[in-house]
Amino acid sequence: MANAFTDDQLREVQQVVKLLADKKAMNLVAEMLTGNIVDIRPQLDFTSELGFTYPAVKKALDIKDREVVPILESLVGEGILEKSFFDRLLRCPQCHSINLRPTIHCVKCGSGDVVRGRILEHLVCHYIGLEDEFTTKGRYICPRCHQLLRAAESDYRSLGLLYKCHDCFEIFGLPRMKWRCLKCSAVTAEDKVTEIDIYYYNLNEAKRSLLEFELKPKPQLIEFLKQRGYNVVENAIVKGRSGAEHKIDLLATRDDGIITYTIAIGIKVAGQKIELGEIFDFDDKAYDIGIHDKILVIVPELGREAEKFASQQRIKVLEVRDLETVLAGGVPEPRQISKEPFEFRSKSQLIEYLQQYGYEVKENAKVKGKSGAEHGLDILATKDDGIITHHIAIGIEVAEEPIGLDKVFDFDDKAYDIGILDKAFIAVPGLTREGSQFAQRQRIKVFEVDQLEPNSEEVAKDIEAESELGD
Ligand SMILES: [Zn+2]
Ligand SMILES: [Zn+2]
Ligand SMILES: [Zn+2]
Repeated sequence: MANAFTDDQLREVQQVVKLLADKKAMNLVAEMLTGNIVDIRPQLDFTSELGFTYPAVKKALDIKDREVVPILESLVGEGILEKSFFDRLLRCPQCHSINLRPTIHCVKCGSGDVVRGRILEHLVCHYIGLEDEFTTKGRYICPRCHQLLRAAESDYRSLGLLYKCHDCFEIFGLPRMKWRCLKCSAVTAEDKVTEIDIYYYNLNEAKRSLLEFELKPKPQLIEFLKQRGYNVVENAIVKGRSGAEHKIDLLATRDDGIITYTIAIGIKVAGQKIELGEIFDFDDKAYDIGIHDKILVIVPELGREAEKFASQQRIKVLEVRDLETVLAGGVPEPRQISKEPFEFRSKSQLIEYLQQYGYEVKENAKVKGKSGAEHGLDILATKDDGIITHHIAIGIEVAEEPIGLDKVFDFDDKAYDIGILDKAFIAVPGLTREGSQFAQRQRIKVFEVDQLEPNSEEVAKDIEAESELGD
C-alpha cells in the first residue's frame, strides 16, 4: 500500500511536532527558573495511565501524563535537567498497569491453593500435614492412622512454618512468587514482569544563567534588532577568509542602501568571570569573516585582561543587566522608506537619503585622527542604533577624468586615521582601474556616476570648490 504522505510532508510534520515539544519544554524550564516548580517529583497513582504522574508538570503545561516523561528526558539529554532515582516499579507486560499484587504458588504443580502453617510429622506413620489437620477437640489426632499424638519429639515432631499445596499436597519452604495484575487479571512469573525506574528531576543549576538569558533577554535582543531593520540569524555559520567556517551566536545585517552593516553578536554566559581566551576566539572569528561591528553579551563580567582586550579590539561589551537598559530605551526605526537601490544624483539628494535613514549628517566635517592630524570629510554620517553607533565616512570626487588611485588612497588614509571602517566613495565620472581595485581591497563602497544631473551642476561646482578649499 502506498504511503499516505510524501517524505517531505512527513518531515514537515516531524518538525512541527518537535517544535511543539520544544515549546512545552521551554515553558517548563521557564516555570523552574521562576521557582514556580522547584523540583519535579513523581506521585504514584494506580488510576493513572502510567501508574505515576508528575502533577506539577502536568498542571503547569496542561499536558497528558504520557507526554511528561519524554519532555523531561529530552531536557535531561540537553543537560538542562538532572535526574535522580526515585523508585522501581513493576509493570504488567500485558496491559502495562503497575497495579500488581504478589501471589504465591506451589513449587511442584503451580497451584495458587497453598496454605502456610505449622507442619507436623507423625513419626509413627510418617504422615506430614498442617497442624490444623491433626487437631480435633484440643488434641492431635493423625488424619492418616487416627492415632493420638502424645509427645513432641517422641512420636511426632514440628517441622516449623511451611507451605502446603492443597492440590498436590507438596510441602515446601519457599513458594513460587508470581504477580497478578489487578487491571487485566493476567498472572506473570516473577522473572517475566517488566521493571520500570522512575526518577525525580531538578534544574541543572550550572545552566541557570544561560537558560535565563535564552528565555528572555535573547528574544528581546533579536526583536530589538528586527525593529531597527536588521535581519537576524541565530547560530549563523559563516565562512571566513581563511576558509574556516565559524558559528556566530547572532548575526545581524542591515542594508542601508549605502552601506550594508553586519554585526557579530557573541553570547558568553558563564558561572565565573569570562577570560581572555573566549573573547579572543570571538574577535578572531569576526576578523576572519571580515566583520568590524562586534558586540559581546556577557554574564557575569569580563576578567581584567579580557576587558582590556575587548576595548582595544573595539568590541562593545554589554552585561546582561546593561542590555535590559539598552533594550528599554530607543525608538524603533520608522518602517522603511524606499527600498530602491541607492543611486547618487547629487550631494543634497545623498544627504536627504541619509537623513531619511535616521543618520545625523555633517558636511565637511573636521575630525581629528589618531595621528593628531585634523582631516576634512566630505560627509560624516552618524547613526546611533541604540546598541551600536555607526559612522560612515563619505568622500566625493568630481572631475573631468576618471578619479585615480591617489584620491581614493587619500580618502582611505583619512578614514583609517580617524578610525572609521564604513567607507563610501562617490566618483564622478568613475574611477580608474587601479582606483577601483584599491577601493575594493579596502572595502570602500564605490558609487560611480557618469555625470551629475543637469540641475545639480551648481552642487557639483560647490563640491569642487569645497574640495579645493579642503586641500
Ligand atoms: Zn499417623
Ligand atoms: Zn501443588
Ligand atoms: Zn495487566
